[in-house]
Amino acid sequence: MFRDNLAIVNHKIAAALALRQTAKITGDKVTLVAVTKNHPPLVVTEALEAGLADVGENRVQEAKNKKELLPAGGIWHLLGHLQTNKIKQAVELFDIIESVDSAKVLMHIEHEAAKLNKLQRVLLQINLTREEQKSGLSEEDYQLLRTQLASYPHVRVEGLMVIAKATDKPEETRPTFARGYQLFCQLQEQLGSATCTTLSMGMTHDYWIAIEEGANSVRLGTALFGARDYSIK
Ligand SMILES: *Cc1c(COP(=O)(O)O)cnc(C)c1O
Repeated sequence: MFRDNLAIVNHKIAAALALRQTAKITGDKVTLVAVTKNHPPLVVTEALEAGLADVGENRVQEAKNKKELLPAGGIWHLLGHLQTNKIKQAVELFDIIESVDSAKVLMHIEHEAAKLNKLQRVLLQINLTREEQKSGLSEEDYQLLRTQLASYPHVRVEGLMVIAKATDKPEETRPTFARGYQLFCQLQEQLGSATCTTLSMGMTHDYWIAIEEGANSVRLGTALFGARDYSIK
């Protein structure tokens, strides 16, 4: 089941890359982050055994539970909103925190990473759809924060994370992803393309459009593992 799903996903990723307008968008690689939230730890093992290096989780506690049961391995991405009281654990557990959505969160990450003498890899999450229920920096707050990154020496900002509007018409997400790519190029000019490597956009219902518009990392749960079981936390 999972292996079949993975084959379909890889095929769709390749097709989307082929459709990209290469004059406009550089790069021809896409990282597939397997989103294992609300699935049992076994699913992480399956993903790693199939050659995927990256796993994504939404909650600190759920990732901690899984990591305690699994052998070391995998590059762990945090995708969900971070509460202040979880930041210490998040810095201990995650290789990449994709969901930095305020200057305050970044400040706390800096503080905890400094204590551990860690260089914490992060992405800045921008809320381009201005939906109130969604976390992420407003574009205005993002533009301000990006001028202040030098004040966070234990944090390495490697790019951006964007979530499009949930819709049953995937085409409608295209302008959001196109804007994400513009902002990513701007950040690359600021930080350099050796540091600023990652544009994380696209989930099960819209990832091929995100890739066409320039995403080089997609976060897929349902497409790989089927429906989530919300009793697993
Ligand atoms: C849950 C989640 C995903 C994966 O969602 P699917 O629709 O199952 O692919 C991706 N990104 C974030 C931020 C999520 O919370």
